[in-house]
Amino acid sequence: MDLDALIARYRRTVTGVEAESCDCGEQVLAGDEWRARGCGYLYEYLFDITFRDTLQDAIDAGSLSSDQAIQVRDVDERLKALLAENKIDTTGVRFWNNGVPRAISD
Ligand SMILES: [Zn+2]
Repeated sequence: MDLDALIARYRRTVTGVEAESCDCGEQVLAGDEWRARGCGYLYEYLFDITFRDTLQDAIDAGSLSSDQAIQVRDVDERLKALLAENKIDTTGVRFWNNGVPRAISD
C-alpha cells in the first residue's frame, strides 16, 4: 500500500468511528450493527489502527511529504478528540495504542 492509500485508509477508519458507521462491506452498517459486524468491532478496529503504526514507521523514516504529514496530523487530531472523549490519554508518539474510542465495542 502506498502512503496516500495508507493515509486514506487511516482517515476512513477515523471517519467511520466518528460516524459509528461504515460501508466497506456489501451494505452500510451503523450503530450496534456496525459494532457487531463492522469496523466498530474491537478486533476489527485494532486491526485497522495498525495502519497508523505503519504510517509512523514511514514518518520516522522521513518518507512523508509535508502535505502528507499535514493530512496525518489532521486525522490524528480527530482521533485524539475521540480518545479524549473516552478519557484515554492522548500523549505519546504512538498515542493511538493507549486505548480505543468509546464507540468501539468488544
Ligand atoms: Zn467496515
